[in-house]
Amino acid sequence: MYLKSLEVQGFKSFANRILFQFHNGITAVVGPNGSGKSNVSDAIRWVLGEQSAKSLRGGSMQDVIFAGTQTRKPMSYAYVSITFDNADHLLPVEYDEVTVARRLYRSGESEYLINGTEVRMRDVQELFFDTGIGKEGYSLIGQGQVEKILNGRPDERRELFDEAAGIVKYKHRKASTLKK
Ligand code: ATP
Ligand code: MG
Repeated sequence: MYLKSLEVQGFKSFANRILFQFHNGITAVVGPNGSGKSNVSDAIRWVLGEQSAKSLRGGSMQDVIFAGTQTRKPMSYAYVSITFDNADHLLPVEYDEVTVARRLYRSGESEYLINGTEVRMRDVQELFFDTGIGKEGYSLIGQGQVEKILNGRPDERRELFDEAAGIVKYKHRKASTLKK
């Protein structure tokens, strides 16, 4: 499985629709300070279900919506979609390609889609459990996170091993069964 593309529109500094296409290998994003490099990785975490505005470097979740510039009006929504090549079916669905999308309006209304079908945020999270890709997965290592892993509490560090061992989905299912 690999990341094939990322589409952003109205997300942070990206007002226009932009399509990033990746190949199965290493991609580096380079650019001057403030040009939007971190906004690209924020977009990936956001579409995978990030709920913390603070970790997206904003005060409220609506701060991810393009706020406008001197020459450009603010946008009414933010949209991000991410597409994975799933030919090896590492994601537990029948599709050879999986696209996850998220949209948020200024009103607060929001939606998630998997291959065009509206789903719950939980469905998106479950899709990526044990793959290392989810918003808590170790595929995305942000600034300061290495330190968090090294200095973290044992139970926090344990979560990383649970994900690698592939048992997160069972823990979640157990917890939700016990709640019923
Ligand atoms: P550095 O090299 O300093 O880490 P960077 O390339 O990672 O920079 P980002 O932090 O991704 O840059 O982008 C910051 C820019 O994004 C700022 O100019 C900021 O004004 C802009 N930005 C953030 N949120 C929004 C928003 N909602 N609307 C418009 N612009 C935004
Ligand atoms: Mg940055």
